[in-house]
Amino acid sequence: MEHNLPLKKILISEKAINKRVKELALQISRDYEGRTPVFVGILRGAVLFYAELIKNIVIDCNIDFMCLCSYEGTQCAGKPRTILDLREDIANRHVVLVEDIVDTGATALQLLEMLKIRKPASVEFCTLLDKPSNRKVEIVPKYAGFAIENEFVIGYGLDYNGLYRNLPFIGVLDENKQ
Ligand code: 5GP
Repeated sequence: MEHNLPLKKILISEKAINKRVKELALQISRDYEGRTPVFVGILRGAVLFYAELIKNIVIDCNIDFMCLCSYEGTQCAGKPRTILDLREDIANRHVVLVEDIVDTGATALQLLEMLKIRKPASVEFCTLLDKPSNRKVEIVPKYAGFAIENEFVIGYGLDYNGLYRNLPFIGVLDENKQ
């Protein structure tokens, strides 16, 4: 059995992702030692990254999730909507928002605005992928796995029309193969 993949190329291998995620987890563990951070996974795109990241965190932490919706196909569908909200009370807590990708930054900014009114002690972003050339708002993720070009990527949690999230690597979508 095989996927019929609309891929231009594999951009980041599973091995490279796992290595980088371990490095990020170690860095975050050191930075947050003694502070019991809350890791907030942004569903659904961050699901694989989130699981791999928290497996490698070596300090006490809490986990929680949010789900926003912003894309249809490869097109941004405007202002993101909240589908699922936090269960943890984040007042006075150190929050690490775990995202699949920061592209224009609109989602990240909306998350930041939504969370700030709940008075956390701090909020930082940890993203697997960063597309800094496409940024429309001032968001700089403190922790970023890989900076990539402005191409539409799939795999490792990232979808195209709901598919390909389960691929263990990151690939560039070939829109001609759709
Ligand atoms: P932003 O609000 O920063 O423009 O976009 C954030 C969201 O858009 C991400 O969480 C992700 O779901 C989606 N997104 C942005 N770029 C890509 C991409 O290259 N591939 C996929 N599959 N989703 C993307």
